[in-house]
Amino acid sequence: MKNRLFFFTLLLSALFFTNTIHAQVQRPKLVVGIVIDQMRWDYLYRYNDLYTTTGFKRLLNGGHSCENTMIPYTPTVTAAGHTSLYTGTTPAIHGIVANDWVDRESGTLMYCAKDTSVMPVGSTNKNAGQMSPRNLLTNTIGDELRLATNFRSRVFGVALKDRGGIFPAGQSANAAYWFDDASGKWITSSYYKMQELPAWVTAYNNRKVPDSLLQQDWNLLFDPSKYIQSSEDDMAFEKLLESDKKRTFPHSYKSVIGSNNYDVLRASPYGTTLTFDFAKQIIRNEGLGKRSDPDMLCVSISSTDYIGHRFGPNSLEAQDMYLRLDRDLGAFLTYLDNTVGKDNYLVFLSADHGAPQNGEYLKTKNYSTAGTLSWSVLQRNLNSLCQEKFGANNIVKRIYDYQLYLDHKVTDSLKLDEKKIKVALVKYLKTIPEVWNAFDNEDFASTIMPPVIRERLSNSYYYKRSGDIQFFFKAQFTDGGKEGIEHGAWYAYDAHIPGIFYGWGIKPGKTYRETYMTDIAPTISALLKIQMPSGNIGHVITEVMK
Ligand code: ZN
Ligand code: ZN
Repeated sequence: MKNRLFFFTLLLSALFFTNTIHAQVQRPKLVVGIVIDQMRWDYLYRYNDLYTTTGFKRLLNGGHSCENTMIPYTPTVTAAGHTSLYTGTTPAIHGIVANDWVDRESGTLMYCAKDTSVMPVGSTNKNAGQMSPRNLLTNTIGDELRLATNFRSRVFGVALKDRGGIFPAGQSANAAYWFDDASGKWITSSYYKMQELPAWVTAYNNRKVPDSLLQQDWNLLFDPSKYIQSSEDDMAFEKLLESDKKRTFPHSYKSVIGSNNYDVLRASPYGTTLTFDFAKQIIRNEGLGKRSDPDMLCVSISSTDYIGHRFGPNSLEAQDMYLRLDRDLGAFLTYLDNTVGKDNYLVFLSADHGAPQNGEYLKTKNYSTAGTLSWSVLQRNLNSLCQEKFGANNIVKRIYDYQLYLDHKVTDSLKLDEKKIKVALVKYLKTIPEVWNAFDNEDFASTIMPPVIRERLSNSYYYKRSGDIQFFFKAQFTDGGKEGIEHGAWYAYDAHIPGIFYGWGIKPGKTYRETYMTDIAPTISALLKIQMPSGNIGHVITEVMK
């Protein structure tokens, strides 16, 4: 009897054991987020004729593209975009309202990722290295993945821009890496529980890959006659590249090599090559995608933004950059096939924001409402008005992303009536031809505007970090001067981005209904069968699921 009971128990536990193995949750080995900084949705098609079959077209044909992915808030800038993609929520909730803001309590200027409580790792440059996700108020897909697997999953972020690597990777990431202009090296900070760089990162840095990349001049990939999507090479709307003081091909970066300022590498197609190369090194050296729990890599391509700002969407530089990016992306996907396995990884590709055409350029094409107005000129004019009316200069401390931040220390010390100042500033702003609307943020509820704009503003307003007065330019008017472009508005050119899912668990196809940047994180969470990020307000895009 005893023996029979023993065998029965043995049989039961064997059954239970087999069952638990069979019931193990199916997940991919690796999740890769690819964010292309400043990539407008239409670039998927604008340059399509010269793309390979291995890059964007591979994702479009084999994956699921949400063709109308919109950014549901304004301002459409880098830090807010990267954070919203990975948190499934908007600046009002995750707190990264912009790249820079004025902290309401202390009145100090704040850079989104600045953290003076940490030290640079891999550099002595505090300006570049004292960075962390400390200002982030909610968590990310990677954080939830770590929680879901009891921190067995490993999560990394990489981008030339610190904010492009740090916020996607989240609060509990194993590491984020970014580029130090002074040394031309990849660095991180002590936030990630490191005192020095891993040996493999140091070895990579010592190879001086940027130097060998920058040896090559940037020439067009094809004969100029093939570039039917772009203007002539020498256009008044382009900025001169700093390394060769030119706006025409070939571009040279040789002056940077061996200097103590590699900043302009960012504005080269080699910045993309370098980032994908380092992303591969992370996969190889950290053994990502090799274990039973999924790992995650958040890659952000920053060079597209730096080149975009200088040359604009209609330039040969923009087109050639995307053709090169397409090839780098293809090689990266092939690398994933070979190391993680074709059916074992899940990719999403999106952007943090889009970009406008240069307004002065549009004018030359007979656009009757288009142009530029510099915020610094505007700020000077607004402060002259304050001097005249209230006897105090510098009341407008900063203009960031179409918001005025008042200097409350100045108004308090002079016992000025802030309400009166705001009324005067709003009244003046409304007289400016480029301005579409302006209002005191405290009067938000009573300001008449289309519901879609009201919603986008509500989604980004966080009292402690947002400005006092909000204004908008009319469509096709932007900050800046005659050269280059500036994004940040709610208009379609800034707010319509790619949203592509590819690989493990994805049903190929296209969805045309309007989806949002904030839907990407809950969709990835659902695919991974993990909890949505803590502040999530997005919705699962069920169409992409197999
Ligand atoms: Zn950006
Ligand atoms: Zn930008």
